[in-house]
Amino acid sequence: MINVTRSSMPDIEEYIDEIRDIWENHWLTNMGPKHRKLQEKLKEYLGVENVELMTNGHMALELTLQAMNLQGEVITTPFTFASTTHAIVRNGLVPVFCDVDPVTFLIDIEKLESLITDRTCAILPVHVYGNICDMEEIEHIAHKYELKVIYDAAHAFGELYRGQSIGLFGNASCFSFHATKVFHTIEGGAVCFKDEHLGKILYGLKNFGIQNAEEVSAVGANAKMNEFCAAMGICNLRHVDNEIEKRRIVTERYQENLEGIDGITLRQYQSDVKNNYAYFPIIIEPRIFGSSREDVLKKMKDNGIGARKYFYPLTNTFSCFGRQFDVSKTPVALQLSKRVLTLPLYADLPLEEVDRISKVILSCKGV
Ligand SMILES: *Cc1c(COP(=O)(O)O)cnc(C)c1O
Repeated sequence: MINVTRSSMPDIEEYIDEIRDIWENHWLTNMGPKHRKLQEKLKEYLGVENVELMTNGHMALELTLQAMNLQGEVITTPFTFASTTHAIVRNGLVPVFCDVDPVTFLIDIEKLESLITDRTCAILPVHVYGNICDMEEIEHIAHKYELKVIYDAAHAFGELYRGQSIGLFGNASCFSFHATKVFHTIEGGAVCFKDEHLGKILYGLKNFGIQNAEEVSAVGANAKMNEFCAAMGICNLRHVDNEIEKRRIVTERYQENLEGIDGITLRQYQSDVKNNYAYFPIIIEPRIFGSSREDVLKKMKDNGIGARKYFYPLTNTFSCFGRQFDVSKTPVALQLSKRVLTLPLYADLPLEEVDRISKVILSCKGV
């Protein structure tokens, strides 16, 4: 069985070496030496001044919104993982859904400004599949209306935009280090930000809002990355460039195999972005290809290949939200969510398997 993803892991000896001193100091969590070491290594790798580690990418988003003390509406997109929208709603904020661009899957800049009201407090765009949002335009609009900008950068670890780290943009960027992501700490996440004051608040919020032994100044959560996760991150960070390079080779093989097929659209890579090759989505146009996304998915499954409808369903159609949101306001996102299929992609996926997967997909053509 070929899964859609497979977590990268260091050699077991390397990990054991990294965790050995945990047995000497008995410091398992609460911002220990591994936590601090990974934080420093990430600042260096990501080329940013400030990094706050979290238990996961979701808490990075949720606590960043809380730290900004926002009220009202947050403009975001529904073509994303549940976490993005949930982070907004769990903060008592109202998501306002902007449609996405059909080629980049990113927030549609043309439609963004018309959604701003006097209740809007922030914009939360997603760097979908590692495509990078039009950050200059977003921040131009945000500046004009005095809005905060928080990027969901869960898909964009290590990426550069015009040679600059993406973690340098907006008020904050939130990363996920979940086991399925390009760089992982088993479970984990981080926030990159400019304002050091925001860092102090985030540091407090991830530890129950405890300021010192006698003062609890905020209703915080528990989002501290433990030492074993941090150690996994320290090991994985040593190999991440190599992992990304291997992902690039897999991606190019898919492109060679599937380029120019009527009814299949491949993702485009932005020329001004250094990509991390996290995902390989294809869009299947059933009337042209002759088979639907569901047909292709089934054929793949019958051949022992996992693929994922990522992202489907749209977050603004989740049953937990009832009929609160009008999905007809995001028609492009809706169309994409019904046609997208994310193919297996990980560093050690053999090229022969990429060829086999491609053949299975092509065998669905015109069926
Ligand atoms: C993975 C992911 C998250 C959440 O990260 P976790 O570490 O799993 O909590 C948020 N947004 C997007 C777009 C993601 O892909």
